[in-house]
This record gives sequence, structure tokens and C-alpha cells, in this order.
Amino acid sequence: MSVKVRFAPSPTGKLHVGNVRTALVNWLFAKGQGGSFVLRIDDTDLVRSTQESEDNIEIDLKWLGLTWDERYNQSKRFDRYEEAAARLKAEGRLYPCYETADELDRRRKVQLSRGQPPIYDRAALSLTDAEKAAFEAEGRRPHWRFKLEGKRVAWEDLARGHAEVDTASMSDPVLIREDGLFLYTLPSVVDDIDMEITHIIRGEDHVTNTGAQIEIFEALGAKVPGFAHMPLLVGADGTALSKRLGSLAIMDMRADGYEPIAITSHLGKIGTSDNLEVAASLQELGEAFAFSKMGRSPARYDTADLDRLNAQAVHAIDYAEAKPRLEALGVDLGETFWNTVKGNLNRFGDVVDMAKIVTGPVTPVIEDAAFAAAALELLPDTIDADAWSTWTGAVKDKTGAKGKGLFMPLRLALTGQAHGPDMAAMIPLIGRERLVQRLKGEAA
Ligand code: GLU
Repeated sequence: MSVKVRFAPSPTGKLHVGNVRTALVNWLFAKGQGGSFVLRIDDTDLVRSTQESEDNIEIDLKWLGLTWDERYNQSKRFDRYEEAAARLKAEGRLYPCYETADELDRRRKVQLSRGQPPIYDRAALSLTDAEKAAFEAEGRRPHWRFKLEGKRVAWEDLARGHAEVDTASMSDPVLIREDGLFLYTLPSVVDDIDMEITHIIRGEDHVTNTGAQIEIFEALGAKVPGFAHMPLLVGADGTALSKRLGSLAIMDMRADGYEPIAITSHLGKIGTSDNLEVAASLQELGEAFAFSKMGRSPARYDTADLDRLNAQAVHAIDYAEAKPRLEALGVDLGETFWNTVKGNLNRFGDVVDMAKIVTGPVTPVIEDAAFAAAALELLPDTIDADAWSTWTGAVKDKTGAKGKGLFMPLRLALTGQAHGPDMAAMIPLIGRERLVQRLKGEAA
């Protein structure tokens, strides 16, 4: 059977690096073995879900290259959840409860004060029909809990190895709220069954869920899929990133000028034994991906690493690929220009400043006017690829300046900056006329 995975975001906000890592690992795992990738929008919460968020999820995933083979909305599948709920009710696995949140809270406090774990006591299981009718007459609506078997649920986790959850230590999960809303737990299982998902890959914050969900798969008579729970992301300081994820939105990173392959290379490799280097393509990342390379320790998300990978990605862009982007920025100065400056870029957009060095205006920085004048005298008539070495050789002979004392004043005069691309390649692009003006101290 071929591999089929799903990414199931809730459309209640911006997609952040944590979500995207889950999406990416699913995608890499499936595509690495010719499988398929399902986008499932978990929008059972009709109040919190928005169309805008759903649209943005699609925009972000497409931009990253994480295309999907099938796509679903949970909000269009309530009939299926009702059917599954009816089956579980008929089999006594889904039972009505009438406690209010306050009542539950009080019971938990009593349990804790007695040193007992705050697990739901299943009082509702022993309600008589008359008691239920009395609650209904009071206007109470039931919420519905799934009756766990209370056993050791075990699975071979692709990322964690042998995993176990003791469902006896858990409260029976609420699957349907008193207002009739399906919480995520049951729809997720129903969809995974209907969509024939072979592997569920998600963050390790879902491990406990998995214990309950495996019991639901079994209760619905379905084959239990494979599971992988990935270690969570931590920041550069080693502390959990979960609270800060909101500020690491993909759409903001796109606006900041990051390359999609830098983001995917970073998120695909942190927490694995692979070196943190940029990949040439998602395809290549997929071929390299393996859960066996993923450790149990958290994956360290460091913006400095991302910046380094981003620079690598920009340096690898060839002119044909760069050209439309250069045109869009109004700075397509040709292939030689691109090849000369790209190694100095951290973000693609930095090329605008590089183009300004060529086209000006540049405000020259001249500390020693006599030196600049001497250099101007010696400037070759033709500024070709050899001009820089001929010229600086002559300036050295004439002035005695050498090393940094020779090159830095020329760079500062000609570019206005202390650092930048190779001057030998830059001066033919700048052209003699502007070189002359700049050596005279004129902005040009
Ligand atoms: N909507 C759920 C979430 O974002 C999906 C979890 C899952 O992959 O099952 O946490």
C-alpha cells in the first residue's frame, strides 16, 4: 500500500514555523517514497476558523512548494462524524455527561486535595434515565465522552521508537461539546480512516491524544495507521518555542525576503543528524529525509542558522532564475553583474543596494584628496576585466601605498563603502565616467 499522509492545520491564525515543519516532514516522508500528501483543513470550530486564514495557509504552502494531492474541509464532513458518533453511542463507547465546567472543576480540586490524579470519575455512566431526563428538563444539554478501555496502548513510533500511553491514567475525552460541536479528536480519526491515511506525523504534544485516538480507531473497526511524533522546536536559548511561534509566521518571513528553500532546508534538517546546509530542491531534501536521523532531543530553531542557509540559497541562484526577480526589482544589470554581486547578498533584495553601487548615485568617501587625484591620473582609458590590476599596480608604484592602504581608499572612493563585491569585476560595470566623477569626490 502506498504511503498517504495528511497535514491538518486549524485555520485560526497564521501558519508558523512549527506548523510548517509538520507539513514539511509529512510532505518529505510521503514524496520521498512516491506517496501522496493530503491537505485537510481542521475547521470544525466554525467560530474560530476564518476563510482568510484558510486562504493564507494555501498561499504559504504553495509558496514553500508543499503542494497537495487531495484537499478537504472538516466543516463539509459533519455527516460522517455524526455517523461515527452514532455508532460509538450504540456501542456504549460514547456516553452523555451533564456536569457543568464548575462542577468538574470542584471535583478535580477535591481529588487533588486527596492526592488523587484529577481524572474524570465517570459519574455520568451511572446516571439513570430519569436523572438524565431531569437534567434535560432543567435545560442542560449533554456533552459526550469516549469511554476509554483503560489499558496500555502501544505503538512503534517512527520517530520515538516503542511508545506507550496508559489510557487508565487519562480522563475519558470529550468528543462532542454540549452545543453539539465536534472537538478535533473524533473528526480527525474519522477522516484518517475515510482518507486512508497510512501515517500520522505530528508534534510530540499529541502523544497522549494518540493513546485515545488509537482506541477510537479500534472502536470504529479500522486499521490503526503508523505514527511519528516529532520532538518540538526550541529556540536558540534551548527553551520551548511554543509561546513565541506566533511571531514566526511564514507570511512575515516571505515579506522579510527569505527564500522558501532556505526555510524548508532549515526546518527539514534541524533536529536530525544531517548537516545544516541548504538543499538544491525539495526533491533533494525528500531523498535525504529519514526518521532514523531524527533524535529524541528537541530541534533547535536558530534564526542565525536560517540566515546562513538563506545566504547560501541566494548564492546558488543562477542568472536565468534571478533575471525575472531582478527585473521585478528594476535592477537587471545583466549576468556579469549578478554573478559578481550575488556572493555578497544575505537576502535577494540586498541586490538593490548592489545595483546602486553601479548605477549610483554613490557618495564617495575620500580621506586623502591627493591620493585620489594621483589615482585618477593613472586610471586606464579602457575599463575592462584587467583594468583593476593594471591600475592598482600603477597607483602602488606611484604612491608607495600597498595592501589595505592601497585598496581601501579606492573602494571607499568608488563605492562609498568599506566592504562589497570584487572591485576588479565591479569597475567595468560602473564605467569610466562614473569612476572619474567619484574619484573627484562628486556624487555619481
Ligand atoms: N488540527 C490539529 C492541530 O493543528 C491537527 C493535529 C493532527 O495532526 O492530528 O494540532
